[in-house]
Amino acid sequence: MAIRTGKEGFLSKLCCKNGLWIAFRGSMRKYLRFVSGLHEYLRERLEPLAALEQARLKLQSRITNRDQNFLNLLEKGIFGYSSSPYLELLKSRSIAFSDIKKWVEGDGIEGTLTRLQQEGIYFTVDEFKGKTEVNRNGIRFKCNERMFDNPFLSNYYEVRSGATRSAGTRVRIDFEYLKQRSLYDALLLHTHGILTAPIANWFPIFPGAPGMNSSLRFLRIGNAPRRWFSQVSQAQVDVNWEKSWGTQLIFMMAKLYGAPLATPDHADLNSAHILAEWAAEMLKESPRCGIYTFASSAVRVCIAARERGLNIKGTRFLVTGEPLTAQKKKEIEEAGAIAVPVYGISEAGVIAAGCNHPADPAISDFCHVYKDTTAIITHRLSVPHIDLEVDAFLFSTILYESPKLLLNVGMGDYGMVRKCPCDCEFGKLGFDTHFGNIRSYEKLTGEGVTFVDTDLIRILEKELPSRFGGRSTDYQLVEQENGAGLNHLRLLVSPRLGSLDERRITREFIELLRRSEDSPESWAQSGSLMWNQAGMLQVERTTPIPTISGKILPFHLVKPSAKVIGKKE
Ligand SMILES: [Zn+2]
Repeated sequence: MAIRTGKEGFLSKLCCKNGLWIAFRGSMRKYLRFVSGLHEYLRERLEPLAALEQARLKLQSRITNRDQNFLNLLEKGIFGYSSSPYLELLKSRSIAFSDIKKWVEGDGIEGTLTRLQQEGIYFTVDEFKGKTEVNRNGIRFKCNERMFDNPFLSNYYEVRSGATRSAGTRVRIDFEYLKQRSLYDALLLHTHGILTAPIANWFPIFPGAPGMNSSLRFLRIGNAPRRWFSQVSQAQVDVNWEKSWGTQLIFMMAKLYGAPLATPDHADLNSAHILAEWAAEMLKESPRCGIYTFASSAVRVCIAARERGLNIKGTRFLVTGEPLTAQKKKEIEEAGAIAVPVYGISEAGVIAAGCNHPADPAISDFCHVYKDTTAIITHRLSVPHIDLEVDAFLFSTILYESPKLLLNVGMGDYGMVRKCPCDCEFGKLGFDTHFGNIRSYEKLTGEGVTFVDTDLIRILEKELPSRFGGRSTDYQLVEQENGAGLNHLRLLVSPRLGSLDERRITREFIELLRRSEDSPESWAQSGSLMWNQAGMLQVERTTPIPTISGKILPFHLVKPSAKVIGKKE
């Protein structure tokens, strides 16, 4: 959780000779807005059954009014907002609001989005982050993420997420938006029989977007997590005073309002038995309990339970942050538990989750898309640095309170999207869009922590050769899942470089990650600690693996449902 101003922090602003008062006034306004938003949020919390009832009514109504909500947002947020980054693209194809209205009425939202994509109205993840120039329909320009901020938000605070690639990424979370999202949680927890069951989080305290957001959302629906375990301790992570202050304030205010939030207790990745013991204890009194964590962390809990003979049958693991692969799902189910995939993007929060009757159980991460607030289509995209062609997702936001206004924007993930009925509570409300086989083509995630490709490429191609000799093609990362469902990274180092201290390579690689330039600072700290705990990186003295076209690329990733560029099926 962060209310941060990064490099232009409060203290550095105070030191600025000319802008002292303005900066102070601006910051105070920000803090007051945060406190008053939190006050309202805590005051209006609900009992679980009332939250469920409200969820059913509101979600049903948003599904019914989906087309109209989409058009309203487009009319005000894009056509009525002169700084919108979409306007230039739309103008270049002479597309007016009336055209889009007509298309939505005729072909629905997804049909319209596909048509817009074919007209060049979309942004890839690199264009959205300002990494590459937009060059379409004869116009060229560069974006930055702030251009996509929703101009209508008021009571927001900012977080940085490990799921994004740019250091400049700040996502505004509006309290109203958290309220809207908590409706899905009521339905999701109810679907899995844990609406009133004991729940624990296992997420790092800082930067804390998943841990703090889910704590606040569950609090809102009357079932705040009983425990919060953190893979890293506060003392291990260097955070600025604003972050610590903001977090402390939330705990303090929640207590004042008679709804205390669990504060984080340290349980590192090698102490997964603490979670298993907690679940076993809860299950003595309740038929079910819930643990919300990363997919790998969930697997670690199941392994620890098996090793210690603890019964965790009845646990529902809500897993996020990394793909729920078939192997991870199997490991979790073998412990008598159930894995529920929860998919979120930092730009829009949680936008999909799995139900209790998945229409296609063969897909391990089959999710209902929260289609009342997000629309998803795919487009074919070539990804040169991994030599693959993928069906990349393009996301569009429909809800007025979204942190960013997205219209066909890629987030670096790909997979399949399918429309089909489902006999669960989500299906009955009209949630008929699913997606699954979700993987990333632009980031590397292990133990739920993501490092962006730009950092890894720089380390592999520049930093390692300058420290240990050789050239960029002498180093390669290979991502692999072992038989227990845990991921490892093999760092292949060409044998031609002669005798090298492998432990020093591992140590320096992790240290370089900790000082990553593009990965968000606090995630880089927590992430490098977690990768160390997990023994994530293993050096192997093997020649890097060439692609089918003979190239040596910095990554050799095994990616399902993607095909090698240029390879005929
Ligand atoms: Zn379902």
